[in-house]
Amino acid sequence: MLDFTNKVVIVTGSARGIGRSLAEEFARCGAKIVITDLDQAMCEQVAREISPNAIGVKANVTAGADIDALMQATLDAFGRIDVVVNNAGITRDTLMIRMDEKDWDMVLDINLKGAFLVTKAAARIMMKQRSGRIVNISSIVGLSGNAGQANYSASKAGLIGLTKSSAKELCSRGITVNAVAPGFIETEMTHTLPEAVRKSFLERVLVSRPGTPKDVASAVLFLASDEAAYITGQVLAVDGGLTV
Ligand code: NAP
Repeated sequence: MLDFTNKVVIVTGSARGIGRSLAEEFARCGAKIVITDLDQAMCEQVAREISPNAIGVKANVTAGADIDALMQATLDAFGRIDVVVNNAGITRDTLMIRMDEKDWDMVLDINLKGAFLVTKAAARIMMKQRSGRIVNISSIVGLSGNAGQANYSASKAGLIGLTKSSAKELCSRGITVNAVAPGFIETEMTHTLPEAVRKSFLERVLVSRPGTPKDVASAVLFLASDEAAYITGQVLAVDGGLTV
């Protein structure tokens, strides 16, 4: 089992779905966890449920002031920041010719600008520590594109550019930056997909089952661990062979 004893981990969008599963796995491996999402009461409740070494801090990833407050609350509670997972994300799917500008902006704001703001704020602290791990949750559609997801695919492709650029900028300070690109994972996000889309995805998964949030967590925890010190700027697909 990977050891995160005394490591301080922030997972954005961690009140539910993949983010919550990531937080649970980090806690199981000994980490001190910051649950952060849009609702303060929910963050605190999830923190209580997960670990005595967890705190809940509301932060909208698109709001610079929230991010600054999140970093300060983490430092006040735990004194340092070892790992940040940029997980918060949304979809607003429709064909591009029908896509409202506001749905383009909202998806890009949360999925891409949010990760930039969190990375920038955390990197300042990690640079002083001369160590850190940042893992961005992209998607296989950021590599391949997907009809009906022009905004989402663009945001996830942008995250890969952000991953590689920040890896180059931060490496000399002991900070690695990597991305995980999940395929079809069972969460509320995928429950809303039409049955035909779901079926077409699953037919192409080599391991013949949808992924679970825990499958994603295994990859993220590895990239966030001391054992992954020689890996940076990479994108790891967790898709059961969907993109092979
Ligand atoms: P989810 O169940 O919808 O959870 C997303 C989380 O992000 C929610 O807790 C949500 O909070 C939070 N969030 C939304 N907007 C936010 C904001 N502005 N600031 C802070 N938090 C915000 O989605 P998921 O399936 O777990 O997805 C997690 C990540 O994996 C996303 O980046 C997604 O794009 C990526 N991903 C998922 C799949 C998949 O198959 N599920 C595949 C590839 C990539 P609320 O509860 O308040 O809305």
